[in-house]
Amino acid sequence: MTFKLCVLSGKGGVGKTTVAAAISVHLAEKLKVMAVDADVECPNLHIVLGAGKLAKEREVFSFLPEINEGSCVKCYRCVDACRRNALFRVEGKAPILIEEQCNGCGSCIIACPAGAIRRRKVCVGEIKTGEIKESLHIISGEMKVGNEEPTPVVRELMNVVEEHENDFDFVVVDAPPGVKCNVVAPLETCDAALLVMEPTPLGIEDARRVAELIRLMNKRAFIVVNRALGPKEDLEKIRKIFPFPVIGVVPYSENVVMLYTKGRVNEIEGINSIVAKLDELLKR
Ligand code: SF4
Ligand code: SF4
Repeated sequence: MTFKLCVLSGKGGVGKTTVAAAISVHLAEKLKVMAVDADVECPNLHIVLGAGKLAKEREVFSFLPEINEGSCVKCYRCVDACRRNALFRVEGKAPILIEEQCNGCGSCIIACPAGAIRRRKVCVGEIKTGEIKESLHIISGEMKVGNEEPTPVVRELMNVVEEHENDFDFVVVDAPPGVKCNVVAPLETCDAALLVMEPTPLGIEDARRVAELIRLMNKRAFIVVNRALGPKEDLEKIRKIFPFPVIGVVPYSENVVMLYTKGRVNEIEGINSIVAKLDELLKR
């Protein structure tokens, strides 16, 4: 059965994508691996993996409401129903839609007593695929420029992953940073989570919120500490705070930066033992 691992972080720039790429390359030495870039606002896993140009698999569509001024009875129930404040009330006229705020939930359509709102289909992103080598493929989501809502793209991406996952032994998902809705979609479809964090007070604080989300979603989880530079007490503190095992530490060094810039992420110190530990824990 295919195992799906979701790689998460409390914020961007802590090395989540690097760790996801390095694990994918390592695992692909023995298994057939699908690397998934769910960080659709800023997808760069394909660059780190050296995948080159990806091919378009499909477009992702969402809906925007379109109000028929002639049918609108100016009751403004749609404005009250919209939790995103995407509809602007103008006395005596039909409400104005602020497209950037709308996530296409359709609540306004349900609330409208006059049937004055219809759905307008809009393209919000693309799903792309590529092959790095026979045992390592990539699927990536990308939001269209100007679109503010990543969740529809992430959800469609995870649908595509489910369609193809049986062709693979292992799926590594590079999730968006933080704890918004777009993180929930990949996390809920994965079997376990890998939380990447920095051993700094801010890093710990950001990671705490992700840990809470993982706990609420009842997922098995492990921690990788990246850019470890300080004293051992920092790691001890992390072990005490978080209820998940620390399975690896990646040091802060010039060598790591050099390997990253040369696309040799699988050679980064500590990745070998992280994959071995992961393998051991997942067998239990
Ligand atoms: S579709 Fe949802 S978010 Fe968009 S305007 Fe209607 S209620 Fe608001
Ligand atoms: S709910 Fe329908 S009728 Fe009422 S203001 Fe909105 S669009 Fe117009």
